[in-house]
Amino acid sequence: MIDFKSEVLKIKDQMLQDIKDLCAIPSMQDDSTVALFAPYGAANRKALDAMLEIGRRDGFEVQDVDGHAGHIDIGSGEETLGILGHLDVVPVNEAGWDTNPFEVVIKDGKLYGRGVADDKGPLIASYYAAKIVNSLNIPTKMKTRVIFGCNEELGSSCVKYYFTKMPYPTMGFTPDAGFPVVYGEKAGCSFEITGNVEKNGLIYLCAGSRPNIVPETCEAIIEGNHKQYVDSFQKFLSSNNLTGTIEEEGNHTKLVLKGKSAHASTPEEGINAVVYLCKYLATVVDNKVVDFVLEYLDDYHGKKLGIDFNGAMGPLTMNLGVISYCKENLKITLDLRCPHDMDFDKMIEKFQTACSNYQLNENHDIGKALYIDPKSKLVSTLHQAYVDVSGDTNSKPQAIGGGTYAKSMPNCVAFGAEFEGEDNFIHGNNENIKIDSLLKATEIYCHAIYNLIKAD
Ligand SMILES: [Zn+2]
Repeated sequence: MIDFKSEVLKIKDQMLQDIKDLCAIPSMQDDSTVALFAPYGAANRKALDAMLEIGRRDGFEVQDVDGHAGHIDIGSGEETLGILGHLDVVPVNEAGWDTNPFEVVIKDGKLYGRGVADDKGPLIASYYAAKIVNSLNIPTKMKTRVIFGCNEELGSSCVKYYFTKMPYPTMGFTPDAGFPVVYGEKAGCSFEITGNVEKNGLIYLCAGSRPNIVPETCEAIIEGNHKQYVDSFQKFLSSNNLTGTIEEEGNHTKLVLKGKSAHASTPEEGINAVVYLCKYLATVVDNKVVDFVLEYLDDYHGKKLGIDFNGAMGPLTMNLGVISYCKENLKITLDLRCPHDMDFDKMIEKFQTACSNYQLNENHDIGKALYIDPKSKLVSTLHQAYVDVSGDTNSKPQAIGGGTYAKSMPNCVAFGAEFEGEDNFIHGNNENIKIDSLLKATEIYCHAIYNLIKAD
């Protein structure tokens, strides 16, 4: 096998410089600067231009697809291997960062900055890998097309648009998740439950701002003087190992309960504050919202609804992400991640029955799942590249609850660049990536691209 490791070391400095330059552009979607050919705002346009310029600088053909996305073509062949990365980033909470998020710094062998791990770093790593393989001048059956979009974080309309103008590659991967390789992504589904519910002692119950997060805090206002509830509420909190507050609110009582937030694709890692506050409320009010939550929504896998399912990709997960109950008006939003091999119609039916039992309405949106046979050539080649470079034979191809660009074209999976046991703080404060890991990822991408595109 070619010594890709030393090839990667040769390009290390320039690769890091390209990542620094791209990460200096705060490419968060900005609707106030949207223009023709800048559909996601000026900064995302600038990042797209910078990436196209990298391709031009290195002598490759590039294509701008109306500011939504672009690509760089490397090498030649009848067919195409697509590599899909994104140039947009999520906003930062500057107060939570130790350094300027838009000025990459190197500390303790790690790059720190917004986008170093999600996804500018891995995009550049796979671009350099394609470049290294191309420099070998071996006969290839596929060219490599590095595709980059500017709206992954807010719905991926960039690549949806791109594929209305450009053909699908034969196969592809997106370096925007974890190693070893992700062969399945559950379908993201949402249910919205609404209705009018008599208050019967419960004036207000609210929690959560985004359906895809387990709500950390839940607030309620119940009728009556707080003194009558203090003892029972404190006792409830301590017996469940939770914290919260109880105080006077006019003539009524305000309760706040703290759980633990987590991502909706792994709700079991959190503690849903709504569910726990409802458990307490059930002991002091006789309200149908509380009853509904406890009868159907108080577990993470939909067992009580009768929709729990464990498939080839693992279990269905359910998160009660947002609840708003005020002036007897209820709205609940649930985020579910559903394996591809379950019965979706049955799930909808179960929701409808549960809602009609309580005279509530439901509205749903059923997403698309991704499942590529773990034994397919694509998945096994990518996995083998990971094993060959990392030496890790224990980690198996995985299915995840999140969604990536892999769903935007046929025959595509997510592949790296986060290694198991490393946390790159993606979307969080102090996002970082170890330089050694980035180099290792680049080497893995070299092996993968080489084995996929070389002529038989
Ligand atoms: Zn990403």
